[in-house]
Amino acid sequence: MNETATDANSEERPVPRMAAPLGATAAPPHPTGNDDFILRTEGLLKRFAGVAAVDHLSMTLPRKGITSIVGPNGSGKSTLINLLSGILPIDGGMVTIDGIALRAIMPSDSPTHGVTRTFQEVRLFDQMTVWDNILVTLTARSVVDSLLELTPAKYEARARELLETVGLWGKRRDLAVNLSYGQRKLLEVARALSMDVKIYLFDEPFAGLFPVMLERVKGLLNELKAQGKAIIFIEHNMDLIRALSDYIIVLDSGELLAEGEVNEVLARPEVIKAYLGT
Ligand code: ADP
Ligand code: MG
Repeated sequence: MNETATDANSEERPVPRMAAPLGATAAPPHPTGNDDFILRTEGLLKRFAGVAAVDHLSMTLPRKGITSIVGPNGSGKSTLINLLSGILPIDGGMVTIDGIALRAIMPSDSPTHGVTRTFQEVRLFDQMTVWDNILVTLTARSVVDSLLELTPAKYEARARELLETVGLWGKRRDLAVNLSYGQRKLLEVARALSMDVKIYLFDEPFAGLFPVMLERVKGLLNELKAQGKAIIFIEHNMDLIRALSDYIIVLDSGELLAEGEVNEVLARPEVIKAYLGT
């Protein structure tokens, strides 16, 4: 990631550092208008039964590259992704994507805002074939294309490409419900890849995958990175986090414990103490 972009008014632009102490009112770590960051949250709040799952969270997402979200179970990682993708309504604060402040993101709008995501608990159309699961996301995207009947050849070619990419071409006639756990995860990743957006959010895409499939998903995330996309993934495995991510966001009880370049953040004593437990 480019951390040396120049700022017209300063020789040295501040790079992401430790968040303010928990409970303090933190200034955003980056000045507004900083083009290195595609998304930021300010004071983002989500409560369940009065308890804050995401607690006045201010964080930033680099425009390019892979960002991991880490934190103990229940620290608000999935809730954060649900808020960023409009699956859950926001109780307070703001999400800004490419400079546009959004108080409410409807799930159906999220591609418009340039966001797509996968779920920790895979969500597919179970009673549809693998093939149709891909086609519905592809064709739902463009009303204009549908009107002009630019289907099916264009979409079919793309659907085939996506299924081959995730290694599910041979399974295209199977119902989604009959796939193995790993295959279901791969199909969900393929559905996310079928969206041409700016921000891809993956909730534990590697959880429970066998090594071959794990390598495949790793390759897909790196491909998105090579295309200049912003990618977020939630993960617990430190080897995967170090291998894949450029940037990291560390959550603790719904609050930001740290964010910044991955190796630098993981070396901070407070992160090691709070999260890595050593
Ligand atoms: P993580 O993904 O980091 O494990 P979650 O975001 O799933 O954490 O959960 C954060 C907190 O919010 C937890 O205490 C969890 O029980 C609670 N929570 C998450 N989703 C819901 C929900 N739909 N209803 C009620 N509580 C929820
Ligand atoms: Mg989760």
